[in-house]
Amino acid sequence: MIITTDLDVSRLAAAWEHIRDTSPAEEAVPLVLDCARRLAADPGGEEARIWVSGLVAMSGYLAWRPEQEAERAALDALRAAVEALGGRPCSHERHPYEAEMDSLEDEIWNGDTGLLTGRLAAPDTDAGGNADDPERVLCPGNVAGWARLAADVIAPLTVRRIPVGAPKYHHSCISTLSGIVNDYPYGDPHEDLKDEAACLPSRPTRGVLAGYLVTMNATCWYATSERITDRSVLDAMIKGVEEAVALLEDRPCTHGPGEHPDTRDPDYTNQVGYFLRSPGGRAEIAEYYGWNEEDEADQEDEPLDAWVCPDFLRDLAEDTLVELSSGLRAFEPAHAGAPEN
Ligand SMILES: [Zn+2]
Ligand SMILES: [Zn+2]
Repeated sequence: MIITTDLDVSRLAAAWEHIRDTSPAEEAVPLVLDCARRLAADPGGEEARIWVSGLVAMSGYLAWRPEQEAERAALDALRAAVEALGGRPCSHERHPYEAEMDSLEDEIWNGDTGLLTGRLAAPDTDAGGNADDPERVLCPGNVAGWARLAADVIAPLTVRRIPVGAPKYHHSCISTLSGIVNDYPYGDPHEDLKDEAACLPSRPTRGVLAGYLVTMNATCWYATSERITDRSVLDAMIKGVEEAVALLEDRPCTHGPGEHPDTRDPDYTNQVGYFLRSPGGRAEIAEYYGWNEEDEADQEDEPLDAWVCPDFLRDLAEDTLVELSSGLRAFEPAHAGAPEN
């Protein structure tokens, strides 16, 4: 039995708040390991919400090249909490964490989950709640929901039963780019493709990085078509893809032959490119593959996490760069109309 005084928790919470993607391992790792150990010791207990809240607060560090032991401990503890809390019946149709899912563009929650205090800074009025509804904020279903989101940001496409729904902003990006890949652009495709090429954060989560590379692949065919008359589009895309490849980790590929995704349909690939960038979007991918059902026993274990596999993404980026570089030749005056040699 762990005894935690309020003083302990507020001291720890203040330390968690400082942990970011930029935090050095010697600062972040002891806090993550301590928090994960406390959660794993009693993942269905009264205090689970506190330690889940800690790991959510530190998810910025955990989603960007975390130290391996810390990542493993955090994931094991979060999954144990999902297991222990996620199946408990409750009377709520929605939980407050779901409202957060729509506001998030780069996946990291810097705001307050409410799990420490039972109160929300910004009440989720859509879900019929208010700031004084601690019962809904502290419901095991809400704690498990946050644990699922944090685990899925750290290890994308490994968590089931996340509510479907990419952020609205991502849907609007899908729609813009879908117009382009289907050759019915709404705006100026030169501008839209350059904006897209420039949108990679310096420390992307695994999902955001994968999504970026997948989108670049989905749109490279259009970029090399005669529709694009300004080579700065191709230059921007090549620069973006090269920078993204440099951010891929050295995680070993765990997939068998033929298990890497099929990206031949640019329209579908374009959608996946944005769905990969949020837990709710990844739930859309999971649903597409029939992987998000209640009854896990009935399902084929399709390796959905192949979408974020560095080997797959490196190969995909190579194809993208070959295509974009071949498109550049159209802009070289010396080669225009000249026979190949
Ligand atoms: Zn509930
Ligand atoms: Zn792989």
